[in-house]
Amino acid sequence: MDTAASFGAPARCDAPRERLAGDPFAASALPLYQTATFAQSRPDRFDAFDYTRTDNPTRAHVERRIAALEGAGEDGGALLYASGMAAIDAALSLAPSGATVVVGRDLYGGTLRLLGELAAERGVRVVDVDATDSERVAQVIERERPALCWFESPTNPLQDVADLREAARACRAAGARLCVDNTMLTGVLQRPLELGADLVVVSATKHLGGHSDLTAGVAIAREAKLVGELARRRNARGTALAPFEAWLLDRGLETVALRVERQTASAGTIATRLAQRIGEPGLGLRDVRYAGLPNAPGHEVLVEQARGAGSVLALEFDDARRAQRFAAALERFTIAVSFGSTRSTVSVPCAMSHASVPEGLSPTIAPPPAQLVRLSIGLEEPGELLRDLDSALRAADDAVRDARLDPSDPALVP
Ligand SMILES: *Cc1c(COP(=O)(O)O)cnc(C)c1O
Repeated sequence: MDTAASFGAPARCDAPRERLAGDPFAASALPLYQTATFAQSRPDRFDAFDYTRTDNPTRAHVERRIAALEGAGEDGGALLYASGMAAIDAALSLAPSGATVVVGRDLYGGTLRLLGELAAERGVRVVDVDATDSERVAQVIERERPALCWFESPTNPLQDVADLREAARACRAAGARLCVDNTMLTGVLQRPLELGADLVVVSATKHLGGHSDLTAGVAIAREAKLVGELARRRNARGTALAPFEAWLLDRGLETVALRVERQTASAGTIATRLAQRIGEPGLGLRDVRYAGLPNAPGHEVLVEQARGAGSVLALEFDDARRAQRFAAALERFTIAVSFGSTRSTVSVPCAMSHASVPEGLSPTIAPPPAQLVRLSIGLEEPGELLRDLDSALRAADDAVRDARLDPSDPALVP
């Protein structure tokens, strides 16, 4: 079955490539302005650029490209930061001390860790909600009157889908800002700003860069006032992305639409084939979580608001040891945190990217289950990946069976 068939529109490829404005040599590729300062004509005159912490031509060019990709519109803009977390910190800092922030329950582990710090240091009140229940989301927003609401959709790794249009409506009615972490899909597949969000953050370390060779983050907003506020704060704190990393990121943007489209198609094929094996005797495969599957929870909402479900899926096994064994047995998937690279990766989120859920943040926020394995599908041939997945499923089962015969096997202590 073709999971792409459910989505009405094809992936977007408009991260427009233009030559750098004002380049006297009309270079075909983006020039790298690897410079800290720019000469001023007079001490009292600031030209377009004066200091790279504030602004830099290479970085500004890449920011315009990403703003276009996310649909920031005429007045909007994007700001690049040293990492996704730096962009998230900038966005969360818009909530004043003591403010309430309403968040979806399944969030990136680093975001939860930062929320824990903001709660402890600045008295930010974090109220979490099941983001898949849009009525509940609206009720909580109306009741709590938060300064900021924060959602991912689909979430990483559980694939919860939030109705972003409904969340935006509720936020507008309550005078709250809505921020969406769009790292999983990017503007290629979903534009939260067009669904009503005020702010989008993306870890450019993932698909936008796409080659596992840089860390970067970006915040994108529709309103010039908000972009200006973020720019002022970024300059004050000095958290902007360095010019070289921006230049490297530009190469990623050149192919991001092609990569995301192909990786999403492969993820759909793989999720469909693995879903057919749920319950097959001896594999211990309990569930395949991928919002692109037609019977997945939230699939209809996703089809309404996105152009595909992305390249990340999760497998739920019957026990944690099997999950660990399965991940270790894969040969074509590198065991690594992060996703969205040209190469496929596998992770066990509860032990890796999501190991850091801060204690006391909320009794309803928990790390993902230990028997969950996350796959990020790269550009390899999907048939080869499927063969590798098949042999790892069998190898994991052999290991689990052997352990039952010999429960003292030290290799099986999780
Ligand atoms: C990786 C990730 C981040 C953090 O980005 P870094 O570039 O690693 O700082 C934030 N949100 C999501 C959804 C992510 O996957």
